[in-house]
Amino acid sequence: VELFGSGRKNSLGFSFADPVALDAMARGLQQALSRPWRAAPLVAGRRLPGAAVPVRDPADRRRQVGEVVEATPAQGAEAIERARAAASNWDRMPTEQRARILERVADLLEAHRDELMARIVREAGRTLPDALAEVREAADFCRYYAAEARRLFTDVMLPGPTGEENRLRLRGRGVFVCVSPWNFPLAIFVGQIAAALAAGNSVVAKPAPQTPLTAMRAVELMLEAGVPEEVLHFVPGGRALGAALTAHPGIAGVAFTGSFETARAIAAVLAQREGPIVPLIAETGGVNAMVVDSSALTEQVVVDTIQSAFNSAGQRCSALRLLLLQEEVAERTLEMLSGAVDELKVGDPLRLDTDVGPLIDEGARERLQAHGARMSREARLVCQAKLPQDADHGCFFAPQVFEIGDPAILRQEVFGPILHVARWKAGDLERVVEAINATGYGLTLGVHSRLESTVERLLQRARVGNVYVNRNMIGAVVGCQPFGGEGLSGTGPKAGGPHTLPRYAVERSVCVNT
Ligand code: GLU
Repeated sequence: VELFGSGRKNSLGFSFADPVALDAMARGLQQALSRPWRAAPLVAGRRLPGAAVPVRDPADRRRQVGEVVEATPAQGAEAIERARAAASNWDRMPTEQRARILERVADLLEAHRDELMARIVREAGRTLPDALAEVREAADFCRYYAAEARRLFTDVMLPGPTGEENRLRLRGRGVFVCVSPWNFPLAIFVGQIAAALAAGNSVVAKPAPQTPLTAMRAVELMLEAGVPEEVLHFVPGGRALGAALTAHPGIAGVAFTGSFETARAIAAVLAQREGPIVPLIAETGGVNAMVVDSSALTEQVVVDTIQSAFNSAGQRCSALRLLLLQEEVAERTLEMLSGAVDELKVGDPLRLDTDVGPLIDEGARERLQAHGARMSREARLVCQAKLPQDADHGCFFAPQVFEIGDPAILRQEVFGPILHVARWKAGDLERVVEAINATGYGLTLGVHSRLESTVERLLQRARVGNVYVNRNMIGAVVGCQPFGGEGLSGTGPKAGGPHTLPRYAVERSVCVNT
């Protein structure tokens, strides 16, 4: 796709129906799977030693896919100091040079596609199509932010009286701490770093503790592409490390994607620490609804519901959690939906015929099981997919659909393949909007309707960041559907949009008496 006006192309994938391409991918995956995978802190290009702990496959917990040495808080502090010392050189580098490095990162990500896909599948339990989409999205973020840096990081001349020259320009802030989630171990990890680097910041990146191996490989490729090793530091670890990084007085900003609760904890740490007040760019969760009125095409609603609720085992913050059906079409839709859920194949994500892979870990499965048990008491089970025979050793969870009476019982994000359905009566659209806004979240909204009045009303009244009309509501494309929410769903700016980079930067105004 040639994107209008930018001279940039989004990364191309390949068709899973093409046997030649599939064969090449299978060989690439096989090769990658036969190598040992290790992650360790990488500070100023130096791999730091330490005790390694195993990383296990969510699809089979007996299988160790690699090992990780986690960084200590002291090593995190060292990374911040090194990044601080390197920030101004990187910021002073011509924008064009920074942009070219990011474009080389994109090329290398694509060139190492199979290897990255293998890690994404085995470490995060994502399916092959999801893994491919992620490599493409990571490359898109790099090329998009490179193009955006060229557009935005040049002097803007502003008017002034004769004898005065006024210039405004964006500069990097300093050290950005990037804290990323396990559900997009490559795309979001790379996307945050690429935005911070494009804007002239140095970076200390902490991947999610569940997915250090994919992140490690991405960092190696970024350094190989020419990101200076003093500018990008990699510190795998968990909550304690994250808390130490965000409490450090030397940082200039935090980019975070994950739960609202963690975002709030980071905001509290930032507010209490010494030093300047710095921005928190947070993308959090959602209790995302899809509104279906009686004019909608039922077949399309069912296909889009299945994708939106169960793709990636429902482990996307954009995923559909609450399907709101107009009463007249509810029975028909639920009947067809039950048929489609029955067809879903849950299983090993490395298999091409798998629709739904595992949850990320035992903790995630326990939370889902507890919510499912609560729903079994308080709601009606409409349908449930089947678990594979050999599911015992993996963190599998069979997708479920519950009909609930009142959407208000759903106040918190449930991060997995449980879909809730509620009915609404003709003429009650206003109450539907109120129910959506009452969740406090505001990430994605799906609308299925062929009535302009329904669509318009929802567009005007619903406080959400991304609306999808008559299609599924996941898989935002970089540069086409800038992604991010409001309210409990995040602080903005959207990822992959024309307003992203300025939030990673400061503005300097220079007035010269000529
Ligand atoms: N951007 C992704 C999508 O549209 C979701 C990102 C997330 O889950 O954090 O599906």
